[in-house]
Amino acid sequence: EAPPGDQAIQQAVDQAYAKFKGVMEGENASYIPYLAKADPKLFGIAVVTADGRVFKAGDAGQEFPVESIAKVFTLARVLKDQGPDAVMAKIGVNATGQPFNSVLAIELNNDKLTGSPPAGNPLVNAGAIAAASLVPGADLNARWKTVLDTASAFAGRTLALNQDVYQSEMAGNQHNQAIALLLQSYDHLYGDPAVTVDLYTRECSYNVSAVDLATMGATLANGGTNPVSHKAVVDPATSARVLAVMATAGLYNTSGEWLFKVGLPGKSGVGGGILAVAPGKLAIGIYSSRLDAAGNSVRGQLAAQSIAEALGLNLFAAG
Ligand code: GLN
Repeated sequence: EAPPGDQAIQQAVDQAYAKFKGVMEGENASYIPYLAKADPKLFGIAVVTADGRVFKAGDAGQEFPVESIAKVFTLARVLKDQGPDAVMAKIGVNATGQPFNSVLAIELNNDKLTGSPPAGNPLVNAGAIAAASLVPGADLNARWKTVLDTASAFAGRTLALNQDVYQSEMAGNQHNQAIALLLQSYDHLYGDPAVTVDLYTRECSYNVSAVDLATMGATLANGGTNPVSHKAVVDPATSARVLAVMATAGLYNTSGEWLFKVGLPGKSGVGGGILAVAPGKLAIGIYSSRLDAAGNSVRGQLAAQSIAEALGLNLFAAG
């Protein structure tokens, strides 16, 4: 099936922007002081196709903290290094059905009882912290460089840490430290807890724009090769597995509703970013800071659904 043409894509993007620009429902994330201050009027949409065409509306170049969407690219790196069997055994790939920072999910997934590893899934905090503990490197800085270099290769430009977000999160990340210690107690953390949580917190704190997100997603849509820079970041099998995990758990406890409405693998972050990927075709990146109760951008979800419908992207539709 041919990818959608330029005009259809720009029209779908413009339409979604116009339709949802006025929606002010939801709240900024409040538990991270830096995110609470974000300007909720900002609204950016970008689409990047698997053949490298770029489309934008609104504040598509506005940078914001990547937050949970970083989990996708660290997963890609760990999958590439360790292989799928290790990821299944050490982290897990089932939906947890619980909020992103759930401790209960760790208890429910205790593999002594269920056969699934306690971290549950690499796209919720516990699994992302387990994944961070598997990132190779001699020390924290080397491992951070691995994470950021991987994300930058997906984006096709050098991404950078937002120091203010990092400090803001480090000052209040006791909950994530507790998750790391709990995983360690179950022998499912693979590094030092304090170092791992520091790495995980840095990973949440690099800045991206909607265009970056769409480019990172387009790399997955294109089987792991960045369609703008033409560099291979991961192989097609790794890319497909990352998308499968996104479909399972990309929007935490509302992942089922997302898949039901949009029909595409997606990932959200509490910074207000949303990424949706149509394999073989394109990716949609959106920024809007106000979140629903599960921590997903309200306008981001509406705009992604609207664009997916306009371009007929639902993976489950027969054609
Ligand atoms: N840094 C955030 C946290 O760990 C990321 C969560 C998210 O975006 N859902 O709490």
